[in-house]
Amino acid sequence: MGGFLFDDIIFGPVKSRRLGVSLGVNLLPTDYKFCTFDCIYCECGWSQKATKKIKLPTRGEIYNRLQSVLIQRKNDSQPIDSITFAGNGEPTLHPDFVGIIDDTIQLRNTYFPNAVITVLSNASLIHNQKIIGALLKVDKNILKLDAGSEGTFQKINQPNGNLKLAQVVDYLKKFNGKLIVQALFVQGFNQHSGIDNTSSSEVEAWIELLKEVKPQCVMLYPIERETPENSIRKVDALTLNKIAEQVEKAGFKTEVFS
Ligand code: SF4
Repeated sequence: MGGFLFDDIIFGPVKSRRLGVSLGVNLLPTDYKFCTFDCIYCECGWSQKATKKIKLPTRGEIYNRLQSVLIQRKNDSQPIDSITFAGNGEPTLHPDFVGIIDDTIQLRNTYFPNAVITVLSNASLIHNQKIIGALLKVDKNILKLDAGSEGTFQKINQPNGNLKLAQVVDYLKKFNGKLIVQALFVQGFNQHSGIDNTSSSEVEAWIELLKEVKPQCVMLYPIERETPENSIRKVDALTLNKIAEQVEKAGFKTEVFS
């Protein structure tokens, strides 16, 4: 399946249950998913082998596009609630991510000082101290943790290279609790075996990892749209709510988006 790619640097705004009126920023190519993971549920589709040099928008282009959209919305009296870094892959892959966050804070403060800045990241590049510093500056630092075991992490997120779940957890711990964890729950199978991060053993192991990471909040999701792996299915609201109850019992605030 092809998946859906954002065709511009700035997209939306979309009305989001968790973020309100959310203006998206895509730091990745518009014709290509560029990510360190290849999640079986990724709405951008499967990662493709690069056949040409990956072209990212420059920091200057991003600044100008964001500024012009913010000015337009200000002039039209159409406020936004969040400037949200998401898009066609992993935003922290952009080599100027740190500077782009500084620019965004400046633009937000100028045009919509009440809006929050949100970054959705898979946490794979958090070994870089500068990226940690940038993520600590944003209002909503939302990082992915879908699995409680190595096998499930590899099956669901399919990270590039040799990245292990324990490394990701170590990266998440570097925020000293100043983060929101988001987790997507899924059931089904791939060509080799079953996939289920909702089983009691998986959920228990995942909650143990949450206890190490100590997030401010945990967001739980099912799949919502077409997925590249077509043998996975949406987890029902009852299952998600039961998992959320366990997370709350462990002492963490939850939000369920079913
Ligand atoms: S981390 Fe996000 S962009 Fe990357 S493959 Fe997973 S869902 Fe897609």
